[in-house]
Amino acid sequence: MPALIIDGRAAREAYMPALQARIKALIAPPTLAIIQVGDRPDSTAFIKAKSAFAVKVGAKTRHIHLSEDASQADVIKSVQECNASHDIHGIIVQLPLPITIDQDAVIEAIDPRKDADGLTALNVKHWLEGREDAIMPATARGVKELLEHYKLSLFGKHVVVVGRSMLVGKPLAALALNENATVTICHSRTADLAQETKKADVLIVAAGRPALIGPGHVHEGAVVIDVGINDAKREKLEEEIPGRKLVGDVDFAAVLPALGDAGAITPVPGGVGPMTVLGLIENLVDLCARV
Ligand code: NAD
Repeated sequence: MPALIIDGRAAREAYMPALQARIKALIAPPTLAIIQVGDRPDSTAFIKAKSAFAVKVGAKTRHIHLSEDASQADVIKSVQECNASHDIHGIIVQLPLPITIDQDAVIEAIDPRKDADGLTALNVKHWLEGREDAIMPATARGVKELLEHYKLSLFGKHVVVVGRSMLVGKPLAALALNENATVTICHSRTADLAQETKKADVLIVAAGRPALIGPGHVHEGAVVIDVGINDAKREKLEEEIPGRKLVGDVDFAAVLPALGDAGAITPVPGGVGPMTVLGLIENLVDLCARV
């Protein structure tokens, strides 16, 4: 038997009734402001996916689209308007922003009470402290609930996270630590990546590098969570993987047989992505319920 393929779309479906019921019980539909700067096609596609899921469960989104040449002050002004609006319960800034804009300054302008992605310094601090009222970064929440759905516990496991960004890698490492795993964090300066990743009971990869993880990076029976989303076209992988627009960081076809029947792996697309969107809307509902 091959390794289990972890289905993020099916897991999300299973979480939907409870989320819809929570939204119905609120006085007004929770509304998420999504601020986009410029026209990156991947950002536009992610925003569409977030809006479509929000509508499906009874929430609303407001897309605030600024031009590529918007200044940092313009973006912060939009954030502040959303902070002040009583009709908006959560705010996200679609990342990455153009390089001329200080991403941290924009994120810090978000009122922590409306921080649906859980990225402001106050939220990160509260979450690291394990406070119940902290908003968990959406990707970490999505991965947590995906693992829970499949009854894959991190307790006492050796979790290796590849990637150390504030947006994804560090929150995932903190999640594993909070779940009582022993955690190793690898990054672009790790001397021997395969030597570290092979020790993983659970390998979480968030590097943004297609095919970074091959069969020589895993041991039989491991659980592999591929967070990476890479544009096959931009990476010039279209000929190798015909018909695939998105690829992860794991060489799925090569790694799957190496995991054996006790292993498990997420595909891209259809693995972590749908669960991140679920985590985001769950965060929005949590914020709305507090108003
Ligand atoms: P980033 O570029 O900010 O960080 C990448 C990290 O990977 C860095 O810490 C770097 O040290 C590490 N890295 C890069 N090359 C490496 C190598 N060769 N070996 C080991 N480590 C290496 O990117 P990010 O914002 O953290 O996003 C990472 C990936 O996750 C991207 O593909 C992004 O599209 C994806 N992502 C997916 C979701 C989702 O819902 N599935 C959500 C957010 C981001």
